[in-house]
Amino acid sequence: MRISALLLITLLSINSSHAFEVSENFWENGQAVFHVGISGSSPTGGTWNDAFKRSMSAWSDVSSFEFVAVDDYLDPCIDRGEGLFGDGSTGIDFSASVCGSEFGANILAVTLSAGICQNLQCTGGFLITDGDILFNSSEAWDVYSGSLRFDGDSEFERVALHELGHALGLNHSSANSAIMRAFVSDTDSLQSDDIAGIASIYGENEMAQEITLANIYGVTLVAPDNATISGSNSSNNLSGTLSSSDNQLDGKSLDLYQYTFENDSLIDIQLDSQSFDPFLYLVRVSATQSALPSFTFTDDNSGSGNNARINRSIQAGTYWLGVSSASNAAQGSYDVSIISNTSNPSTSFETFTSVYGVDVLINPNPDISGSLGSTDFIFNNRFLDLVQIEVTAASTVRIDLNSSAFDASLLLVDIVSNEVGNLALQNDNNGSGTNSRLETTLSPGTYWLGVTSFSSGESGSYDIAITLVLP
Ligand SMILES: [Zn+2]
Repeated sequence: MRISALLLITLLSINSSHAFEVSENFWENGQAVFHVGISGSSPTGGTWNDAFKRSMSAWSDVSSFEFVAVDDYLDPCIDRGEGLFGDGSTGIDFSASVCGSEFGANILAVTLSAGICQNLQCTGGFLITDGDILFNSSEAWDVYSGSLRFDGDSEFERVALHELGHALGLNHSSANSAIMRAFVSDTDSLQSDDIAGIASIYGENEMAQEITLANIYGVTLVAPDNATISGSNSSNNLSGTLSSSDNQLDGKSLDLYQYTFENDSLIDIQLDSQSFDPFLYLVRVSATQSALPSFTFTDDNSGSGNNARINRSIQAGTYWLGVSSASNAAQGSYDVSIISNTSNPSTSFETFTSVYGVDVLINPNPDISGSLGSTDFIFNNRFLDLVQIEVTAASTVRIDLNSSAFDASLLLVDIVSNEVGNLALQNDNNGSGTNSRLETTLSPGTYWLGVTSFSSGESGSYDIAITLVLP
Protein backbone atom coordinates (compact mmCIF):
# COMPACT_ATOMS: atom_id res chain seq x y z
CA MET A 1 0.00 0.00 0.00
CA ARG A 2 1.37 3.38 -0.97
CA ILE A 3 0.65 6.36 1.18
CA SER A 4 1.89 9.68 -0.10
CA ALA A 5 2.87 12.68 1.93
CA LEU A 6 3.58 16.27 1.02
CA LEU A 7 6.36 18.22 2.62
CA LEU A 8 6.55 21.95 2.13
CA ILE A 9 9.88 23.34 3.23
CA THR A 10 9.59 26.80 4.72
CA LEU A 11 12.21 29.31 5.80
CA LEU A 12 11.87 28.39 9.45
CA SER A 13 15.14 28.20 11.33
CA ILE A 14 15.75 25.24 13.60
CA ASN A 15 18.03 25.84 16.56
CA SER A 16 19.95 22.94 17.93
CA SER A 17 23.20 22.14 19.66
CA HIS A 18 24.75 20.66 16.55
CA ALA A 19 24.71 22.39 13.24
CA PHE A 20 23.24 20.45 10.36
CA GLU A 21 19.74 18.95 10.62
CA VAL A 22 18.43 16.09 8.55
CA SER A 23 14.79 15.39 7.84
CA GLU A 24 13.95 11.71 8.04
CA ASN A 25 13.24 11.68 4.31
CA PHE A 26 15.67 10.44 1.71
CA TRP A 27 15.97 9.14 -1.86
CA GLU A 28 16.01 5.38 -1.53
CA ASN A 29 18.63 4.60 -4.18
CA GLY A 30 20.89 7.56 -3.49
CA GLN A 31 20.02 8.95 -6.89
CA ALA A 32 17.60 11.51 -8.32
CA VAL A 33 16.72 12.58 -11.85
CA PHE A 34 16.05 16.30 -12.30
CA HIS A 35 14.60 17.77 -15.48
CA VAL A 36 16.61 20.96 -16.06
CA GLY A 37 15.13 23.07 -18.84
CA ILE A 38 14.64 26.62 -17.63
CA SER A 39 14.78 29.02 -20.54
CA GLY A 40 17.04 32.04 -20.61
CA SER A 41 20.22 33.33 -19.07
CA SER A 42 21.20 35.39 -16.09
CA PRO A 43 22.25 39.03 -16.67
CA THR A 44 25.95 38.38 -16.07
CA GLY A 45 26.55 34.73 -15.16
CA GLY A 46 25.52 32.43 -18.02
CA THR A 47 22.43 30.28 -18.36
CA TRP A 48 20.20 29.35 -15.44
CA ASN A 49 20.50 25.72 -16.47
CA ASP A 50 24.31 25.70 -16.27
CA ALA A 51 24.22 27.31 -12.82
CA PHE A 52 21.62 24.80 -11.64
CA LYS A 53 23.60 21.85 -12.97
CA ARG A 54 26.77 23.13 -11.27
CA SER A 55 24.82 23.08 -8.01
CA MET A 56 23.73 19.50 -8.64
CA SER A 57 27.34 18.50 -9.29
CA ALA A 58 28.53 20.25 -6.13
CA TRP A 59 26.35 17.98 -4.00
CA SER A 60 27.25 14.87 -6.01
CA ASP A 61 30.94 15.69 -5.67
CA VAL A 62 30.91 15.61 -1.88
CA SER A 63 28.67 12.61 -1.23
CA SER A 64 27.83 9.26 -2.69
CA PHE A 65 24.51 10.75 -3.85
CA GLU A 66 24.18 11.00 -7.61
CA PHE A 67 22.18 13.70 -9.38
CA VAL A 68 21.25 13.05 -12.97
CA ALA A 69 20.31 16.07 -15.09
CA VAL A 70 17.96 15.56 -18.01
CA ASP A 71 18.04 18.47 -20.46
CA ASP A 72 14.34 19.10 -20.92
CA TYR A 73 11.67 21.21 -19.32
CA LEU A 74 9.25 19.64 -16.86
CA ASP A 75 6.59 21.77 -15.19
CA PRO A 76 7.22 21.41 -11.44
CA CYS A 77 3.54 22.13 -10.72
CA ILE A 78 2.11 19.05 -12.43
CA ASP A 79 -0.15 17.33 -9.89
CA ARG A 80 0.70 19.88 -7.21
CA GLY A 81 -2.08 21.52 -5.26
CA GLU A 82 -4.84 20.64 -2.83
CA GLY A 83 -4.65 16.92 -2.05
CA LEU A 84 -2.04 16.25 -4.78
CA PHE A 85 1.47 15.01 -4.14
CA GLY A 86 3.35 15.61 -7.36
CA ASP A 87 3.79 13.51 -10.45
CA GLY A 88 6.80 11.56 -9.23
CA SER A 89 9.12 13.47 -11.58
CA THR A 90 11.18 16.48 -10.60
CA GLY A 91 11.08 19.79 -12.47
CA ILE A 92 12.40 23.28 -11.76
CA ASP A 93 11.27 26.71 -12.88
CA PHE A 94 10.77 30.34 -12.02
CA SER A 95 7.21 30.99 -10.94
CA ALA A 96 5.11 33.84 -9.59
CA SER A 97 3.44 31.48 -7.13
CA VAL A 98 3.95 28.17 -5.41
CA CYS A 99 1.76 26.24 -7.84
CA GLY A 100 -1.09 28.64 -7.13
CA SER A 101 -0.31 29.52 -3.50
CA GLU A 102 1.52 32.71 -2.57
CA PHE A 103 5.23 32.76 -1.91
CA GLY A 104 5.57 34.09 1.65
CA ALA A 105 7.26 37.41 2.31
CA ASN A 106 11.00 37.33 1.51
CA ILE A 107 10.82 33.75 0.28
CA LEU A 108 13.25 33.31 -2.61
CA ALA A 109 12.52 29.70 -3.48
CA VAL A 110 10.63 26.65 -2.32
CA THR A 111 11.26 22.94 -2.58
CA LEU A 112 8.22 20.67 -2.75
CA SER A 113 9.10 17.13 -1.77
CA ALA A 114 6.82 14.16 -1.91
CA GLY A 115 7.30 10.48 -1.40
CA ILE A 116 6.14 7.20 -0.01
CA CYS A 117 5.58 6.83 3.71
CA GLN A 118 7.35 3.96 5.39
CA ASN A 119 4.44 3.03 7.69
CA LEU A 120 0.71 3.64 8.08
CA GLN A 121 1.20 6.54 10.47
CA CYS A 122 3.81 8.04 8.14
CA THR A 123 6.23 8.51 11.02
CA GLY A 124 9.95 8.04 10.46
CA GLY A 125 9.97 9.98 7.25
CA PHE A 126 9.30 8.98 3.67
CA LEU A 127 11.16 7.77 0.62
CA ILE A 128 11.42 10.83 -1.59
CA THR A 129 10.14 10.41 -5.14
CA ASP A 130 9.72 14.05 -6.22
CA GLY A 131 11.65 17.22 -5.29
CA ASP A 132 10.23 20.05 -7.43
CA ILE A 133 11.89 23.45 -6.97
CA LEU A 134 10.32 26.85 -7.65
CA PHE A 135 12.26 30.12 -7.74
CA ASN A 136 10.26 33.27 -7.00
CA SER A 137 9.97 35.13 -10.31
CA SER A 138 9.00 38.37 -8.60
CA GLU A 139 12.64 38.62 -7.49
CA ALA A 140 15.44 39.94 -9.73
CA TRP A 141 18.02 37.19 -10.18
CA ASP A 142 21.62 36.92 -11.32
CA VAL A 143 24.46 34.39 -11.08
CA TYR A 144 27.74 35.44 -9.47
CA SER A 145 30.18 34.23 -6.85
CA GLY A 146 31.43 35.77 -3.62
CA SER A 147 29.83 38.33 -1.35
CA LEU A 148 26.22 39.28 -1.92
CA ARG A 149 25.83 42.41 -4.03
CA PHE A 150 23.69 45.21 -2.72
CA ASP A 151 21.88 45.87 -6.00
CA GLY A 152 18.82 43.87 -4.94
CA ASP A 153 19.47 40.93 -7.28
CA SER A 154 19.18 37.53 -5.63
CA GLU A 155 21.97 35.11 -6.45
CA PHE A 156 20.56 32.04 -8.17
CA GLU A 157 23.33 29.45 -7.83
CA ARG A 158 23.68 29.54 -4.05
CA VAL A 159 19.88 29.46 -3.68
CA ALA A 160 19.83 26.43 -6.01
CA LEU A 161 22.49 24.79 -3.81
CA HIS A 162 20.33 25.46 -0.75
CA GLU A 163 17.09 24.16 -2.29
CA LEU A 164 18.85 21.05 -3.60
CA GLY A 165 19.97 20.43 -0.02
CA HIS A 166 16.29 20.40 0.99
CA ALA A 167 15.47 18.16 -2.00
CA LEU A 168 18.10 15.73 -0.71
CA GLY A 169 16.54 15.62 2.75
CA LEU A 170 18.41 18.28 4.71
CA ASN A 171 16.68 20.79 6.94
CA HIS A 172 18.20 24.11 7.93
CA SER A 173 21.54 24.26 9.71
CA SER A 174 22.47 26.51 12.60
CA ALA A 175 26.09 26.78 11.41
CA ASN A 176 26.72 30.42 10.54
CA SER A 177 28.40 29.91 7.20
CA ALA A 178 26.52 26.83 5.96
CA ILE A 179 24.67 26.90 2.64
CA MET A 180 21.82 25.23 4.56
CA ARG A 181 21.51 28.17 6.93
CA ALA A 182 17.96 29.55 6.75
CA PHE A 183 19.04 32.88 5.27
CA VAL A 184 20.99 33.58 2.11
CA SER A 185 24.48 34.92 2.86
CA ASP A 186 27.93 35.53 1.39
CA THR A 187 28.49 31.76 1.45
CA ASP A 188 28.38 30.59 -2.17
CA SER A 189 29.63 27.01 -1.91
CA LEU A 190 29.06 23.92 0.21
CA GLN A 191 30.77 24.12 3.59
CA SER A 192 32.04 21.37 5.86
CA ASP A 193 28.78 21.41 7.83
CA ASP A 194 26.73 20.89 4.64
CA ILE A 195 29.07 18.12 3.56
CA ALA A 196 28.82 16.40 6.95
CA GLY A 197 25.03 16.68 6.73
CA ILE A 198 24.73 15.06 3.32
CA ALA A 199 27.29 12.42 4.23
CA SER A 200 25.21 11.49 7.28
CA ILE A 201 22.31 10.57 4.97
CA TYR A 202 24.00 9.05 1.92
CA GLY A 203 27.60 8.45 2.97
CA GLU A 204 30.73 10.24 1.91
CA ASN A 205 32.03 10.39 -1.61
CA GLU A 206 35.08 8.17 -1.61
CA MET A 207 36.70 10.54 -4.07
CA ALA A 208 35.95 13.45 -1.74
CA GLN A 209 37.81 11.72 1.06
CA GLU A 210 40.97 12.26 -0.95
CA ILE A 211 40.95 15.88 0.12
CA THR A 212 42.36 14.51 3.36
CA LEU A 213 46.10 14.87 2.94
CA ALA A 214 48.77 12.61 4.33
CA ASN A 215 51.45 14.47 6.19
CA ILE A 216 54.62 13.99 8.15
CA TYR A 217 53.05 14.61 11.54
CA GLY A 218 50.53 11.81 11.17
CA VAL A 219 47.53 14.08 11.70
CA THR A 220 44.49 14.33 9.47
CA LEU A 221 44.70 17.40 7.28
CA VAL A 222 41.87 18.67 5.10
CA ALA A 223 42.25 20.82 2.01
CA PRO A 224 38.87 22.57 1.77
CA ASP A 225 37.24 23.64 -1.48
CA ASN A 226 38.53 27.06 -2.48
CA ALA A 227 41.67 26.47 -0.45
CA THR A 228 43.74 28.73 -2.70
CA ILE A 229 43.31 32.37 -1.75
CA SER A 230 44.52 35.06 -4.10
CA GLY A 231 43.73 38.52 -5.36
CA SER A 232 43.20 41.87 -3.73
CA ASN A 233 40.23 41.00 -1.56
CA SER A 234 38.87 37.54 -0.88
CA SER A 235 36.88 35.85 1.82
CA ASN A 236 36.41 32.25 2.75
CA ASN A 237 34.28 30.55 5.39
CA LEU A 238 34.18 27.12 6.89
CA SER A 239 32.28 25.39 9.65
CA GLY A 240 33.21 22.30 11.58
CA THR A 241 32.87 20.44 14.82
CA LEU A 242 35.51 19.52 17.38
CA SER A 243 34.99 15.98 18.60
CA SER A 244 36.82 13.20 20.38
CA SER A 245 37.46 11.48 17.03
CA ASP A 246 39.61 14.42 15.83
CA ASN A 247 43.38 14.63 15.97
CA GLN A 248 44.44 14.96 19.62
CA LEU A 249 47.13 17.40 20.72
CA ASP A 250 47.98 17.58 24.44
CA GLY A 251 44.49 16.41 25.42
CA LYS A 252 42.77 18.82 23.04
CA SER A 253 40.97 18.07 19.79
CA LEU A 254 42.47 19.63 16.69
CA ASP A 255 41.00 20.15 13.21
CA LEU A 256 43.61 21.10 10.64
CA TYR A 257 42.97 22.76 7.25
CA GLN A 258 45.44 23.64 4.51
CA TYR A 259 45.19 26.97 2.70
CA THR A 260 47.50 28.54 0.16
CA PHE A 261 47.78 32.33 0.14
CA GLU A 262 49.20 33.22 -3.26
CA ASN A 263 50.11 36.79 -2.32
CA ASP A 264 51.63 38.59 0.62
CA SER A 265 48.50 39.79 2.36
CA LEU A 266 46.82 41.21 5.43
CA ILE A 267 44.71 38.41 6.82
CA ASP A 268 41.91 38.51 9.37
CA ILE A 269 40.98 35.04 10.58
CA GLN A 270 38.22 34.76 13.16
CA LEU A 271 37.37 31.52 14.93
CA ASP A 272 34.06 31.61 16.78
CA SER A 273 32.32 29.01 18.88
CA GLN A 274 29.41 29.07 21.27
CA SER A 275 30.32 25.61 22.58
CA PHE A 276 33.93 26.03 23.72
CA ASP A 277 36.73 28.57 24.19
CA PRO A 278 38.41 28.46 20.76
CA PHE A 279 42.15 28.42 20.16
CA LEU A 280 43.54 29.21 16.71
CA TYR A 281 46.78 28.18 15.00
CA LEU A 282 48.22 29.52 11.76
CA VAL A 283 51.38 27.67 10.73
CA ARG A 284 53.27 28.21 7.51
CA VAL A 285 54.68 24.99 6.08
CA SER A 286 57.46 24.50 3.59
CA ALA A 287 57.04 22.58 0.35
CA THR A 288 57.92 19.44 2.34
CA GLN A 289 55.32 20.15 5.05
CA SER A 290 57.87 21.24 7.61
CA ALA A 291 56.41 23.83 9.97
CA LEU A 292 58.35 27.10 9.75
CA PRO A 293 58.63 28.39 13.33
CA SER A 294 59.16 32.04 12.41
CA PHE A 295 55.80 32.00 10.59
CA THR A 296 53.75 30.25 13.27
CA PHE A 297 51.03 32.29 14.96
CA THR A 298 48.52 31.38 17.69
CA ASP A 299 45.68 33.15 19.43
CA ASP A 300 43.23 32.43 22.22
CA ASN A 301 41.06 35.45 23.01
CA SER A 302 41.67 38.32 20.55
CA GLY A 303 38.18 37.94 19.07
CA SER A 304 34.92 38.96 20.68
CA GLY A 305 34.24 37.26 24.01
CA ASN A 306 36.38 34.14 24.22
CA ASN A 307 36.75 33.89 20.46
CA ALA A 308 40.11 33.69 18.71
CA ARG A 309 41.38 35.97 15.98
CA ILE A 310 44.61 36.41 14.03
CA ASN A 311 44.79 39.72 12.21
CA ARG A 312 48.22 40.42 10.72
CA SER A 313 50.40 40.55 7.64
CA ILE A 314 51.65 37.25 6.31
CA GLN A 315 53.89 36.20 3.46
CA ALA A 316 52.55 34.24 0.52
CA GLY A 317 52.75 30.54 1.22
CA THR A 318 51.00 27.37 2.25
CA TYR A 319 49.56 27.50 5.76
CA TRP A 320 47.88 25.06 8.08
CA LEU A 321 44.96 26.58 9.95
CA GLY A 322 44.36 24.71 13.20
CA VAL A 323 41.14 24.85 15.23
CA SER A 324 41.45 23.74 18.83
CA SER A 325 40.27 24.74 22.29
CA ALA A 326 41.86 26.50 25.26
CA SER A 327 40.80 23.75 27.67
CA ASN A 328 40.99 19.98 27.43
CA ALA A 329 38.25 17.76 26.00
CA ALA A 330 36.19 20.64 24.61
CA GLN A 331 33.73 19.72 21.86
CA GLY A 332 31.16 21.42 19.67
CA SER A 333 30.64 23.35 16.48
CA TYR A 334 32.67 26.31 15.28
CA ASP A 335 32.82 28.78 12.41
CA VAL A 336 35.91 30.20 10.75
CA SER A 337 35.94 33.35 8.65
CA ILE A 338 39.04 34.16 6.59
CA ILE A 339 39.41 37.57 5.00
CA SER A 340 42.52 38.29 2.95
CA ASN A 341 43.50 41.67 1.54
CA THR A 342 46.50 42.66 -0.48
CA SER A 343 47.36 46.04 -1.93
CA ASN A 344 49.69 44.37 -4.43
CA PRO A 345 48.13 41.22 -5.90
CA SER A 346 51.26 40.54 -7.98
CA THR A 347 53.39 39.82 -4.92
CA SER A 348 54.20 36.20 -4.51
CA PHE A 349 56.76 33.93 -2.93
CA GLU A 350 60.01 35.52 -1.80
CA THR A 351 63.21 35.26 -3.76
CA PHE A 352 66.80 36.16 -3.02
CA THR A 353 69.94 36.28 -5.09
CA SER A 354 72.38 33.58 -4.07
CA VAL A 355 76.15 33.93 -3.80
CA TYR A 356 76.28 32.37 -7.26
CA GLY A 357 74.22 35.20 -8.71
CA VAL A 358 71.15 33.02 -9.29
CA ASP A 359 67.72 34.07 -8.06
CA VAL A 360 66.33 31.50 -5.62
CA LEU A 361 62.60 31.13 -4.94
CA ILE A 362 61.96 30.43 -1.24
CA ASN A 363 59.47 27.90 0.10
CA PRO A 364 56.68 28.03 -2.45
CA ASN A 365 53.84 25.48 -2.56
CA PRO A 366 54.39 21.75 -2.89
CA ASP A 367 53.22 22.31 -6.47
CA ILE A 368 55.34 24.81 -8.32
CA SER A 369 54.88 26.13 -11.84
CA GLY A 370 57.56 28.03 -13.70
CA SER A 371 59.28 28.41 -17.01
CA LEU A 372 62.80 28.32 -18.36
CA GLY A 373 63.62 31.27 -20.58
CA SER A 374 66.11 33.85 -21.64
CA THR A 375 65.82 35.91 -18.45
CA ASP A 376 67.09 32.95 -16.41
CA PHE A 377 70.57 32.34 -15.10
CA ILE A 378 72.65 30.40 -17.62
CA PHE A 379 74.51 27.35 -16.31
CA ASN A 380 76.50 25.13 -18.64
CA ASN A 381 74.72 26.72 -21.65
CA ARG A 382 71.36 25.77 -20.14
CA PHE A 383 68.78 27.90 -18.37
CA LEU A 384 68.51 27.23 -14.62
CA ASP A 385 65.78 27.98 -12.05
CA LEU A 386 66.39 27.35 -8.35
CA VAL A 387 63.88 26.75 -5.57
CA GLN A 388 64.85 26.61 -1.89
CA ILE A 389 63.01 24.22 0.42
CA GLU A 390 63.34 23.65 4.15
CA VAL A 391 63.20 20.24 5.79
CA THR A 392 62.77 20.27 9.59
CA ALA A 393 62.11 16.56 10.14
CA ALA A 394 63.78 13.71 8.28
CA SER A 395 61.47 12.98 5.33
CA THR A 396 61.40 10.82 2.26
CA VAL A 397 60.34 12.96 -0.66
CA ARG A 398 59.48 12.24 -4.27
CA ILE A 399 60.11 15.19 -6.54
CA ASP A 400 58.67 15.14 -10.05
CA LEU A 401 59.71 17.65 -12.68
CA ASN A 402 57.46 17.56 -15.73
CA SER A 403 57.63 19.57 -18.93
CA SER A 404 56.01 19.10 -22.31
CA ALA A 405 58.25 21.83 -23.75
CA PHE A 406 61.73 20.47 -23.07
CA ASP A 407 63.63 17.40 -21.86
CA ALA A 408 63.69 18.16 -18.16
CA SER A 409 66.64 17.64 -15.85
CA LEU A 410 66.35 17.95 -12.08
CA LEU A 411 69.05 18.77 -9.54
CA LEU A 412 68.90 18.50 -5.76
CA VAL A 413 71.68 19.94 -3.61
CA ASP A 414 72.00 20.62 0.08
CA ILE A 415 72.88 24.10 1.23
CA VAL A 416 75.21 25.00 4.07
CA SER A 417 75.72 28.66 4.95
CA ASN A 418 74.08 29.69 1.65
CA GLU A 419 76.50 27.60 -0.39
CA VAL A 420 76.21 24.25 -2.08
CA GLY A 421 77.19 21.44 0.30
CA ASN A 422 77.90 17.74 -0.23
CA LEU A 423 74.66 16.09 -1.34
CA ALA A 424 74.10 16.45 -5.07
CA LEU A 425 71.56 14.37 -6.94
CA GLN A 426 70.60 14.69 -10.55
CA ASN A 427 68.02 12.96 -12.68
CA ASP A 428 67.12 13.20 -16.34
CA ASN A 429 64.48 10.62 -17.30
CA ASN A 430 63.19 8.64 -14.30
CA GLY A 431 59.77 10.22 -14.68
CA SER A 432 57.33 9.47 -17.49
CA GLY A 433 58.62 10.26 -21.00
CA THR A 434 61.55 12.65 -20.71
CA ASN A 435 60.45 13.88 -17.29
CA SER A 436 62.62 13.75 -14.19
CA ARG A 437 62.02 12.19 -10.80
CA LEU A 438 64.10 12.01 -7.63
CA GLU A 439 63.12 10.04 -4.56
CA THR A 440 65.34 10.33 -1.52
CA THR A 441 65.35 10.67 2.24
CA LEU A 442 66.43 14.11 3.37
CA SER A 443 67.74 14.93 6.82
CA PRO A 444 66.76 18.28 8.34
CA GLY A 445 68.31 21.16 6.46
CA THR A 446 68.02 23.54 3.55
CA TYR A 447 67.99 22.30 -0.04
CA TRP A 448 67.87 23.72 -3.52
CA LEU A 449 65.95 22.18 -6.39
CA GLY A 450 67.43 23.05 -9.74
CA VAL A 451 65.35 22.96 -12.91
CA THR A 452 67.27 22.80 -16.16
CA SER A 453 67.16 21.09 -19.55
CA PHE A 454 69.03 18.07 -20.86
CA SER A 455 70.11 19.85 -24.03
CA SER A 456 71.49 23.36 -24.23
CA GLY A 457 69.22 26.33 -24.87
CA GLU A 458 65.87 24.60 -24.27
CA SER A 459 63.05 26.70 -22.79
CA GLY A 460 59.39 26.50 -21.86
CA SER A 461 57.09 25.90 -18.93
CA TYR A 462 57.41 23.18 -16.31
CA ASP A 463 55.75 21.90 -13.14
CA ILE A 464 57.33 20.53 -9.98
CA ALA A 465 55.32 18.34 -7.61
CA ILE A 466 56.76 17.44 -4.23
CA THR A 467 55.06 14.56 -2.45
CA LEU A 468 55.98 12.92 0.80
CA VAL A 469 56.54 9.19 0.80
CA LEU A 470 55.12 8.10 4.14
CA PRO A 471 56.52 5.04 5.89
ZN1 LIG B 1 15.67 26.60 3.22
